[in-house]
Amino acid sequence: VLTGNERYELAVRRSPDAETIVEVGGLRIGGDRLVLMAGPCAVESEEQLFATARAVREAGGHVLRGGAFKPRTSPYSFQGLGLDGLRLLAAAGREVGLPVVTEVMSPGDVDLVAEHADILQIGARNMQNFPLLDEVGRSRRPVLLKRGLCSTIEEWLLAAEYVLLGGNASVILCERGIRTFETATRNTLDLNAVALARRLSHLPVIADPSHGTGHRELVAPLSLASVAAGAQGLILEVHPQPASARCDGDQSLDCAQFAALAAQLAPLAVAVGRPLHDAVPAALAGVAP
Ligand code: PEP
Ligand code: MN
Repeated sequence: VLTGNERYELAVRRSPDAETIVEVGGLRIGGDRLVLMAGPCAVESEEQLFATARAVREAGGHVLRGGAFKPRTSPYSFQGLGLDGLRLLAAAGREVGLPVVTEVMSPGDVDLVAEHADILQIGARNMQNFPLLDEVGRSRRPVLLKRGLCSTIEEWLLAAEYVLLGGNASVILCERGIRTFETATRNTLDLNAVALARRLSHLPVIADPSHGTGHRELVAPLSLASVAAGAQGLILEVHPQPASARCDGDQSLDCAQFAALAAQLAPLAVAVGRPLHDAVPAALAGVAP
């Protein structure tokens, strides 16, 4: 099991030092630096997003996240601001000088989302949406590929293979928790998968302890554990007022909690040989053309 499976020949790691670095502006994702992506689950308003963006930048975050197209279990839940959300996200990224990541749910939206975002997120529910994987494979934007809720590690790497085969070499793998018999937490963050994906693939691997646990109090311990297990980045939900968030408030850190976690991560990151990435140069602000 610990040798590469030739069924995903583009995603497979061929040697211990074969590591892909995904470059986004001045940021290098992968290798031996830790990257922090943070922001609200959903873009809700200019005020909410810009407050979060400033806090993420001040605390040392490297990428601003924020959902504009939200895959919600219930059709009655807030579905995101759509194009208005994309525009706000791009503006907030420019304002604070951070690249932005957001989810694209439909193949027909890839070009539109790519105009506004530096990184395209494929959500867990779409990990095996093959037309969508083909379409982001044709995009020039890096892809953050979340693992499906009930997908095996091999299925996840084969999903990455679709994007690579489509011609897009910039794929970041994201473990975001899987569905198990456990109901005390929203999902079970699979740190086996983090350690194993690092061995099996040359692609950068990050973890999402927000969706992986579903509980704010568990985000810090599982962030530390993810980094110890080999994660080269974290994606974290942060909201200025989690209690009033329109999406995923229970698992969102407030701005002070995010700053405290970033400070707590710094010495661990050094100890495991993967110190925090340098601050993103503000000069590179804005979605790259
Ligand atoms: C999200 O990032 O807010 C999200 C919906 O993630 P996932 O697809 O992992 O559930
Ligand atoms: Mn969310």
